[in-house]
Amino acid sequence: MNTDLKEIVEELKRYLEFQQSMGIKTVPAQKIATQESAPTVYEKIEPRTEIIDKKTNQADEDIITIEEPVNLFDATKTMTLEEIRGEIGDCTRCKLHEGRTNLVFGDGNPKARLVFVGEGPGRDEDMQGKPFVGRSGKLLTKIIEAMGLKREDVYICNVVKCRPPDNRTPEPNEMSTCEQFLFKQIRFIKPEVIVCLGATAAKSILRTKASLGSLRGKFHMYSGTKLMVTYHPAALLRNPHFKKPAWEDMQVVMKELGLPLPKN
Ligand code: URA
Repeated sequence: MNTDLKEIVEELKRYLEFQQSMGIKTVPAQKIATQESAPTVYEKIEPRTEIIDKKTNQADEDIITIEEPVNLFDATKTMTLEEIRGEIGDCTRCKLHEGRTNLVFGDGNPKARLVFVGEGPGRDEDMQGKPFVGRSGKLLTKIIEAMGLKREDVYICNVVKCRPPDNRTPEPNEMSTCEQFLFKQIRFIKPEVIVCLGATAAKSILRTKASLGSLRGKFHMYSGTKLMVTYHPAALLRNPHFKKPAWEDMQVVMKELGLPLPKN
């Protein structure tokens, strides 16, 4: 098989596996397409990478540029992941520790080019002490693989490190207590791209109350790092209509990382 064809077949396979993981069991039959009416299988989205400070209020004020909270860091030294984990210790800083089985620090490649940030551990994560290992996690793994990566290539963590009771959204004081460790993790890893899975991660990092729908689909900037906001895998499981925009968001990320994109 020539290389182009092999690449197309592999990309198609990844995409179909991703669709399957979203619960799509059939591919609708299409009439043989003519040149003019050929369906676009993938919508090509051009990343919007221009850096526009919100305060300057220029053309695209919906792109957020934010600096890391410097008061958190010792400017002379970047903490390693081990040191950050050590600083957290047997944490009792907020009430989430009361229901914790295991603290879920984060997992993956400490030199990852891509970091995924979720909201907080669920039941399976609390049991295993690892992020995204339950149903949402399985879907996240599929998405990562559909991007042509392995789970071990990326780093995965959350805004809060202990499971909120009944998987409720973390409260503002829980987020503000815990997010310092996320910022330190990002500072150490220095990824090329951060993906916020859902509104909680976006709110924490971008300091915004904007809706997920208005934030997604374009790069924001956090401390000089491109940041994409997309739907949380749990939202994709609940609402399959979100899968197409979520996949479009991941294609923008893939393009930024120089990963092969599915061909139109
Ligand atoms: N949902 C999250 O936001 N994080 C996890 O680790 C698992 C589920």
